[in-house]
Amino acid sequence: MLKIGCHLSVSGGFTAMGKDAVEIGANVFQFFTRNPRGGSAKAIDEKDIATFLELSIQNNFAVLLAHAPYTLNLCAADANIRRFALETMEDDLKRMEYIPGNMYNFHPGSHVGQGVETGIEFIANALNTILKPEQKTTVLLETMAGKGSEIGRSFEELRSIIDRIELTGKLGVCLDTCHVYDAGYDIVNDLDGVLNQFDKIIGLNKLYAIHLNDSKNPFQSHKDRHEKIGQGSIGLETFAKIINHPQLRHLPFYLETPNELPGYAEEIATLKSLYIENCNFNA
Ligand code: FE
Ligand code: FE
Ligand code: ZN
Repeated sequence: MLKIGCHLSVSGGFTAMGKDAVEIGANVFQFFTRNPRGGSAKAIDEKDIATFLELSIQNNFAVLLAHAPYTLNLCAADANIRRFALETMEDDLKRMEYIPGNMYNFHPGSHVGQGVETGIEFIANALNTILKPEQKTTVLLETMAGKGSEIGRSFEELRSIIDRIELTGKLGVCLDTCHVYDAGYDIVNDLDGVLNQFDKIIGLNKLYAIHLNDSKNPFQSHKDRHEKIGQGSIGLETFAKIINHPQLRHLPFYLETPNELPGYAEEIATLKSLYIENCNFNA
């Protein structure tokens, strides 16, 4: 079965997100752990979580993806900004233990002129503090479009972060289709080639999730503007290939397209109709 869902608003709590997911035909979803611009998180509501966990069993939800506020920067030049990012992520991961077995995605950060090497050191050091052997959440580095001084614009940059991590079993990668296409990986004309590169440099066993987004801009534009599925420069044919690809089809797919719930429901229905249910590539 296709594991497909979208980004949902966390403001009504977990049960509300679960109900929205069911309503739009999703069996996974992504949510911000708190206001995406930072700020404090809502108190944990254990009753809401218990109801939600019941609902997710009834509806066979697959793994969920939490997204860190995108303003956090683990590799800022300012030590206070770095510390704020680290403390926020530590707090998020504590809260994630209330819904164990899910994933937590974050943007590696922007090195803001100190250089990629320094940035990577900062990110790796922070992760070595944050990751704990007992945690039940897998932390994911997101592939980035390469806007400004963003780290994570290439598979090599992500690999050099992973190389410095002690608890590598707690760390994986989330591939964003809009971002990698913007960064210069041609998933439209050479999906197999891009996946081979990913496998050689990072290892496909490190790929845990896909952000499914079309792009408003042409190949290699480094802009990071998401478009609705099939309405951008990536196009529906490529998304059909991605969700059915033998090396990707088992992964959870999360839409982050510019949509409200009805638009997401439509995209989910379209992608489900393109998914080949019983194909056996090894036969
Ligand atoms: Fe993101
Ligand atoms: Fe994304
Ligand atoms: Zn993006």
